[in-house]
Amino acid sequence: MLCDWPFLFMSDKLQFVGHKAPPLSAHSKFVMKPTIMKFGGTSVEDASAFRNVAAIVKSHVRLRPVVVVSAIGGFTNALLASVQQAIGGDARAATKSLDHFLGRHVAIALDLLNLESRVAFELTVAVARREIRQLHKIIAVHPVTHRPLQDEIVASGEQLSAQLLAAVLREHGLAARYVDARRCLKTDDNYGSAAPLPETTPATRAELMPLLASTRIPVLGGFIGCTEKGVTATLGRGGSDYSAAIIGAALEAREIQIWTDVAGVLTADPRIVSNARTIPVLSYQEAAELAYFGAKVLHPKTIQPAIDCRIPVRVCNSRAPAEAGTLIVAESEATAQTVKAIAYKNGITTVQVTSARMLGAYGFLRALFEVFDRHRTAVDVVTTSEVSVSLSLDDASALPQLIADLEQLGAVEVEEHRTIISIIGEGLRNTAGIAARVFSEISDINVAMISVGASSVNLTFMVDEARAADAIRRLHYVCFERPESAGKRAGLAAEEVPA
Ligand code: ADP
Ligand code: ASP
Ligand code: MG
Repeated sequence: MLCDWPFLFMSDKLQFVGHKAPPLSAHSKFVMKPTIMKFGGTSVEDASAFRNVAAIVKSHVRLRPVVVVSAIGGFTNALLASVQQAIGGDARAATKSLDHFLGRHVAIALDLLNLESRVAFELTVAVARREIRQLHKIIAVHPVTHRPLQDEIVASGEQLSAQLLAAVLREHGLAARYVDARRCLKTDDNYGSAAPLPETTPATRAELMPLLASTRIPVLGGFIGCTEKGVTATLGRGGSDYSAAIIGAALEAREIQIWTDVAGVLTADPRIVSNARTIPVLSYQEAAELAYFGAKVLHPKTIQPAIDCRIPVRVCNSRAPAEAGTLIVAESEATAQTVKAIAYKNGITTVQVTSARMLGAYGFLRALFEVFDRHRTAVDVVTTSEVSVSLSLDDASALPQLIADLEQLGAVEVEEHRTIISIIGEGLRNTAGIAARVFSEISDINVAMISVGASSVNLTFMVDEARAADAIRRLHYVCFERPESAGKRAGLAAEEVPA
């Protein structure tokens, strides 16, 4: 099948405008398709984690791996914090704050690399520090220039981890080759949340196909790309998953593997529900909704390139590599189970606009959404009544300007510290009684903005942030844990109720 990627992102939701990439050469059809293996920050936090990744890659060599890696755990946060320090005027302290993390890289190299490779890598770290120092100095003097410079600084996390991992893989006898991801991923200049451009496909193929043809293992940093002008840009927090999917689509990969610190996509966030279980198979749509509504295990944009090229995505546990994890494919297996997972997103702001002008009038909603468009603010959930509209915002940074404009249309009420909870599962729209079961279980918790049926796989509602964890635990219990009723409540046929 001819792969349609890359398309341009038009909004935060999954929406693309087309551009057909040329097919891979006839010759490449006869060799095995590559497998993208992406390792997150938690999978590369110390020497033993790097060793573990090397063992996993080694056991997948016959699948023609292309390795994509995140910055080592915690480094991206530290790099971003250092930029804030520089903006505050203290460039010296900003650079100094990174020394602990740079030291962690050197310690891993000391543990895992031979003398020659270690010395070369130490030089790479020293050069990176010097460059970051210069950038901190510029930001301290001209804080307004910080957006592209921030991306340049933050990108050094992935650049260092990818160079280190390539060296570690070579140390383990693998023919690994570091590739600067900026040579492959071409983006627009929306720094901090850049979108891939169509040039990504030919650039990625030109860089990586010759390496794959000579049985090398390319190793790239995730999360980073480069604009037409050659300036470094990043794809947004958690964006290494997205890089893996973009590269996978460009190469028409056999599979995109996301290696992380949990056993695949689970029925709920394990930080809230300790009994959360692995979901063996998810459809693309279920996974996209889960990611969009807060399941951090996948970046929300990861699924679209996979859908466009019909590439399976597998979420695997780097701490238990033999486990199957979660397979995400076009259609999840026909199973009687309706509810597959519970996702949530904290820190939501809701805005309610009430106006008698809405009654029977047309044009009101257009005027309302134009306000959000003007202030480049994405809306997640919308509910309407005869005279009011409620909208939920993940990013409320433009709230003061939004309120000023919305007040021209009606009375505005804002509520902060809200949580969107989503119950996700294919066939939810057509399964009777799910909403009743969900809401009767949490009848003592105030629920607002209920949206069911807008998507066939999703039931969402809003609660107060302070009540969210309690609600999620109780819903997980009724949907997946309660022995005698788990099957019934989750929509399982009686004979499939777990013993
Ligand atoms: P990585 O560093 O591998 O990219 P992330 O921290 O971005 O890892 O994502 C993995 C984390 O996502 C898990 O440790 C878990 O706490 C969180 N998470 C939230 N919801 C889910 C879910 N439904 N299934 C699995 N993990 C989830
Ligand atoms: N290192 C980046 C982050 O922490 C990208 C990623 O890990 O996916 O957001
Ligand atoms: Mg992640």
